[in-house]
Amino acid sequence: MNILLYYAMEEESKKTIEHFDFAEINNNSPLPYKLYKKNIHDNVVYLTNSGIDPRFKVNSVGTIPAALTVYELAKSLNINLVINPGTAGGFLTRGGKIGDIYLATKVLFHHRNIPMGPYEPYGIGEYQAYDFSQLSESLTFKTGVFSSSDSLTCNDEEMSFFNENKVVVKEMEAAAIAYICEILKIPYLGVKSITDIVDGGRITSEEFLENLEKASHNLQQFLSKLLKIFPKS
Ligand code: SAH
Repeated sequence: MNILLYYAMEEESKKTIEHFDFAEINNNSPLPYKLYKKNIHDNVVYLTNSGIDPRFKVNSVGTIPAALTVYELAKSLNINLVINPGTAGGFLTRGGKIGDIYLATKVLFHHRNIPMGPYEPYGIGEYQAYDFSQLSESLTFKTGVFSSSDSLTCNDEEMSFFNENKVVVKEMEAAAIAYICEILKIPYLGVKSITDIVDGGRITSEEFLENLEKASHNLQQFLSKLLKIFPKS
């Protein structure tokens, strides 16, 4: 099986690259992503992060680089499964804690508000996620609804959306990748580690930076186990 891991940030991917000793592969893409490869058991595992934006010199976070990168690599590398590890905001009201690992049951967009008949569900997306039932015997994780937009912050309307849809993970790439996976008929497995609490009263960017190291560590530990037990082709 050919597996693609998509990380938005270099910092989130670093520990997994080091742990498995992934080798970097050169590519000629105009997109800024970095690409790595490693054979793990019977699987060929490609790892990518969004790369540094050439103009703004920060990680290319958000939906557009995620969708373009996953589309390009999934097609050219003949990918059978996309795993999207990353950091995210969690929710105190639904039991979320810093460092928790969540797997997606389904994935929504919370900023695409198109109240015009059938365009409304199109905007929200509600993409399906990989059936992880076979993983729960050997791994510890929480599960629930993921939701994405291109903002780190959110407004009151979006907060009501999270409560109505029982969202447990708020981040900036999952829905875009799940959309590409739906189009290409590849399963999407979202794995997110909580760096900040959306309904906790802290300033998100401060809490995020404070917990990035711990959340990335938990993510790496989870990924190491996941890739070792992952079903062989
Ligand atoms: N402040 C950071 C920028 C992080 S951008 C810095 O200075 O480096 C946020 C990234 O983390 C995105 O890839 C997103 O998917 C994830 N993320 C973590 N917490 C989030 C939250 N509460 N809301 C949205 N995205 C979040």
